Amino acid sequence: MRFGRHICFLCGLPTQPSVDTVSVLAPWLLERYQLHGRQMRLLDQSVVSFEDLRVPCCPRCRTQAVEPLEAKVAAVAAVGGLASWQQLDEQTLFLWLAKMYYGILLTELLTELDPLIKPEYPLSENGQMLSKLQSFYQVFQALRVPIVFEDFNPASVFMLEVAPEEDTLPFEYDDDLSTMMFSIKLDDVVLVACLLDNGIIRQAMRRVYEDVQGKALHPIQVAEFKARVYYAAYLFNVVPDYYVRAVKPGDTHLVYDTLIDDVTREIFNPWENTGYARSLQEMWKRWRLELPEIIRNPAQPLSFLYTEVGEPRTITSYPVPE
Ligand SMILES: [Zn+2]
Repeated sequence: MRFGRHICFLCGLPTQPSVDTVSVLAPWLLERYQLHGRQMRLLDQSVVSFEDLRVPCCPRCRTQAVEPLEAKVAAVAAVGGLASWQQLDEQTLFLWLAKMYYGILLTELLTELDPLIKPEYPLSENGQMLSKLQSFYQVFQALRVPIVFEDFNPASVFMLEVAPEEDTLPFEYDDDLSTMMFSIKLDDVVLVACLLDNGIIRQAMRRVYEDVQGKALHPIQVAEFKARVYYAAYLFNVVPDYYVRAVKPGDTHLVYDTLIDDVTREIFNPWENTGYARSLQEMWKRWRLELPEIIRNPAQPLSFLYTEVGEPRTITSYPVPE
């Protein structure tokens, strides 16, 4: 894996500066959600507008990998609705979210080479993140090379539906780069992904995910669901390894196997309600719910997904404070 200002983000070949780039958030997204001029703040405190968020990409990867991927997803978004998103195969969804996640991460890494203000915790000095990134880059190659993941998905992807009544944000995204979390909201559909856990978080959150199936959730419930996934990703303690099977003549694709070292390490660090409560507080910022209220019962942090006896809850109204 190599990265640099003049190196294709996908294949690693040299690119022609300023000519060979792709937009991290695809043009159709910028257009559809009127994101031109919207800005994001990088870790070095510099500010970049969404349309200037671009990564180096060679013409071949752009025309044969990135653009076809974006066209496929744009067609789904144009129809809209959860049912339409559910038609997308798991791998396409993973690659699409991975492309945006990696585009943002790469922008941060390149900015750190020449930062405005040196970040307190530079990503390039985060050893575990970099080793995850090596593994991530291997599976991300499925965007340009035909790869079959044998009996696993590299990521946990969740799809949620939002009820319209108090839903005011047609577009929203957030991420946690070091835990490989990425989430995006497009109209009434929210996609939440941990991009490098081999589907283990989805397995661990099976029950909660089942309980929200077929329901349009209140935004405060979506935020809680996200807090659970983000916190689980924070506790996730292993880095999957990937192995490419030997290629035989006539093979049309590569086959990847995977291995997780759960012998020397626990897969998850222990769940602590105080840590989880902070994740809730962060996700519930809009509703200004503070820690004392969230953790009034230390054994059972506040929940809008479940009642105190653990039954699924329905929330129809919980207005954002003025
Ligand atoms: Zn390339």
